Amino acid sequence: MPKCPHCGANADADAKFCEVCGKSTSQTKQCVECEKEIPIKARFCKYCGFDQNKDPFDWS
Ligand SMILES: [Zn+2]
Ligand SMILES: [Zn+2]
Repeated sequence: MPKCPHCGANADADAKFCEVCGKSTSQTKQCVECEKEIPIKARFCKYCGFDQNKDPFDWS
């Protein structure tokens, strides 16, 4: 059974959103820089190496 990547609650296999926290249960997200699919817990994109915790529009 898949788990919510946000709160760890069990989620139905076909559930799109967590019943507990209401967030998407998708295990992938889009890289903020190149928009390729990467694992939701990945901090760095494996395609372009971009730090997902960094705002792509903040160049300061
Ligand atoms: Zn959740
Ligand atoms: Zn990327």
